[in-house]
Amino acid sequence: MKRILCVEDETNIREFVVINLQRAGYEVFEAGSAEDALEIYEKEQGRIDIALLDIMLPGMDGVTLCRRLRADNDKLGIILLTAKTQEMDKVGGLMMGADDYITKPFSPGELVARIDALHRRVTLAEQANSGFAEVITSGDFALNLRSRTLIKQGKPIELTQVEFQIMEYFFENPGKALERRDILTYVWGEGYFGEEKIVDVNIRRLRIKVEDDPSVPRHIITVWGLGYKWEI
Ligand code: CA
Repeated sequence: MKRILCVEDETNIREFVVINLQRAGYEVFEAGSAEDALEIYEKEQGRIDIALLDIMLPGMDGVTLCRRLRADNDKLGIILLTAKTQEMDKVGGLMMGADDYITKPFSPGELVARIDALHRRVTLAEQANSGFAEVITSGDFALNLRSRTLIKQGKPIELTQVEFQIMEYFFENPGKALERRDILTYVWGEGYFGEEKIVDVNIRRLRIKVEDDPSVPRHIITVWGLGYKWEI
């Protein structure tokens, strides 16, 4: 069963989302506030795969909720709902650990496609967890495909699913300039509705985790006008 926590205070939008997700085969836990959402999350501990969080909520906002959930669980899929794209830049929601965001208004098709894509990644990660331990190394780094963690000089670095998949793509293509569009397709799959700048946001976050000095990256190198490459 696919399980999703949906947090939105506007009843009309919440009902629209819930109905469409139920039609798409999800068991939906709904909450009208971050406080209620945390209560449900604690009760359903470990049974929720995805959290869909509206940013503007009464009381605790969606970005704070995102940070709380991410601090508790690296493997949870988190999507933010936002009224404007600019809002995402202002609040830096993706830097707070979200995997993706959807801008209002959205169609049922877009909503379900984005959530399905994230759900596939989360499930893939769970399957990898129960399979053989496999490690890919690159210089001082190792990627543990079982625990989905990155090891830097022997120290584990927790990654989100998206960050993990970007690193996996880098490790498979060391020294090669990778286009944003290719990274997007590798991680989010064909037919992704989102924008290429989500790649940049994840790269920024990865640099903070990976680089000794994120302002002077030595491993995740920008290839101007194209994308990024991984250097050992
Ligand atoms: Ca709202």
